[in-house]
Amino acid sequence: MIKPSVPDQLDVRRACRAEESYGAVMVLQRLPRVLEAIEESVRAVAAEREVRVELAFSRDASGWHRMTGEVSVRVPRVCQRCLKPMDDVVTSQVSVAFASSEEEARQVPRDCEPMILGAQLDTVAALEEELLLAMPLHASHADTSCAGEIPGPEASAEPEAAVAKENPFAVLGKLLGKNESKS
Ligand SMILES: [Zn+2]
Repeated sequence: MIKPSVPDQLDVRRACRAEESYGAVMVLQRLPRVLEAIEESVRAVAAEREVRVELAFSRDASGWHRMTGEVSVRVPRVCQRCLKPMDDVVTSQVSVAFASSEEEARQVPRDCEPMILGAQLDTVAALEEELLLAMPLHASHADTSCAGEIPGPEASAEPEAAVAKENPFAVLGKLLGKNESKS
């Protein structure tokens, strides 16, 4: 069964034994360190954004307690080139092996990152860590010409609306034409 919410503290060993999975949506507000990394002017908008969390706990054949899954959120940022707000999708593939000591942490399987575990997993800190590592320090539009001329949303919306208005008449004209030729 997939649990719909992630607790703040999680008993990893128990979760791995029970092979628990989580599929949750939480507001970014719950991850304050991620919010702090976002430009102040868009931070209030960011706080309301939904973070999608999918986590599965298991024990692998070698006995490692594992956490795998994906964390993703569409964060509002400020483009450092044109200084306009933009959305940036931040996704982190989670592949963690829990260790009980520094020494054990050095031996985790290659495909995972080690996480040293106390009695409980602080899920908020873990999710913050995942997103902070995946999030660029500074964001900018994929289109590198954004600092130059960019058509605003108003400019592109008008021709489209005009086309949409024309269409029904064009179709009507064709229908009338057909009817006339039949009679
Ligand atoms: Zn830009």
